[in-house]
Amino acid sequence: MSKKIVALLLSLLIVPALSACGSTNNSTAGSSTSSSIASQTSTAGSEKVKVSVTFDAMKEFTEAVGKDRVEVSTIIPDGTEPHDFEPKAQDLTGLSSAQVFVYSGFGMESWADQAVKAANNKNLVAVEASKGATPIQNTDADEIKEHGQYDPHIWISLKGAETEAENIRDGLIKADPASADYFKQNCDDFVSQLESLYSEYNTKFQAAQNKSFVTGHAAFAYLCRDFGLEQNSVEDVFAEGEPSAQKLAGLVDYCKKNNVKTIFVEDMVSPAVSQTLADQVGAKVEQIYTIESNEDDKTYLDRMKSNLSEIYDSLS
Ligand SMILES: [Zn+2]
Repeated sequence: MSKKIVALLLSLLIVPALSACGSTNNSTAGSSTSSSIASQTSTAGSEKVKVSVTFDAMKEFTEAVGKDRVEVSTIIPDGTEPHDFEPKAQDLTGLSSAQVFVYSGFGMESWADQAVKAANNKNLVAVEASKGATPIQNTDADEIKEHGQYDPHIWISLKGAETEAENIRDGLIKADPASADYFKQNCDDFVSQLESLYSEYNTKFQAAQNKSFVTGHAAFAYLCRDFGLEQNSVEDVFAEGEPSAQKLAGLVDYCKKNNVKTIFVEDMVSPAVSQTLADQVGAKVEQIYTIESNEDDKTYLDRMKSNLSEIYDSLS
């Protein structure tokens, strides 16, 4: 969907930020073994749990919970549009030796079940990270045809991230029961950071008069649900592709009418068109993170903080 569309963002997006956590746990020098809660379980004593994940947000959550006891590899290469990704056999070879496979679900990785079957790895713990969350239905007929009935972007939501981290925690415990306390503690820490960020921004957004913003890729429906906001996306209104002159004129009108001051641009959206649009309506262009790929080497929480802060600022 929409990678290439222009993004115009109206006014608000929110992303609270908490502090970091997670990720970066590649304890290089390694194996000074995990001290305390020593595990003798998982495969080889203090070996890390091998986890194969589909895309960047899943890596972030897995590392937040598993820290130095997981070794994560990401199937969808950074910079690849994840929605239309179709894995080749070589992309999935890691699944035959992985202990845990983490995917987000809600149709994001329609190939996940097949991949698990093809891996033929009876020790593999498959984790559908969104399990238990309430999906948002897609309403656009073309979108449903192309990507299924649900909006997949559950991870761009602090509430969704909680569910995903908890499901990942449970999967890691299955693979390495001796580290259960460690994974639980890390997950609790991560969740409390998510919640504190949520509280901070919930207060701010409740008080905001303006509750809507414009973005290129309609990736923020769950974030909007968290905070009672509304996203208007260029891709919904104008479908995919570079806009024609006529469509661009329509966008310009839309922005002027709605007093759009900020146009949010995602990683895989055409910045040139967005800039053109922004110039024409006197708006500024701001980056927003979808956490579908590595972006600026920032953690999940750093990116959500940035998103929430930018969205909030755009509302006023
Ligand atoms: Zn997306």
